[in-house]
Amino acid sequence: MKTPKNTETRAWRGEIPLESLYTAGLGGEIFFRALKERGELVGTRCAPCKQVYVPARAFCERCFGELD
Ligand SMILES: [Zn+2]
Repeated sequence: MKTPKNTETRAWRGEIPLESLYTAGLGGEIFFRALKERGELVGTRCAPCKQVYVPARAFCERCFGELD
């Protein structure tokens, strides 16, 4: 659809075909693999922040330290 002035366009109806692939990431991979293979919920701990993340994460969101 063509509009005469782009400053008048606020919204339009229609469909946009999209395809996506979700990746769990490094921490998510550990979490989902343990859940599937052993039925366990696993997390990671950041000792300096005394914070546990479930599901497991690769980095602490408070101090950005690497977690394992
Ligand atoms: Zn931390």
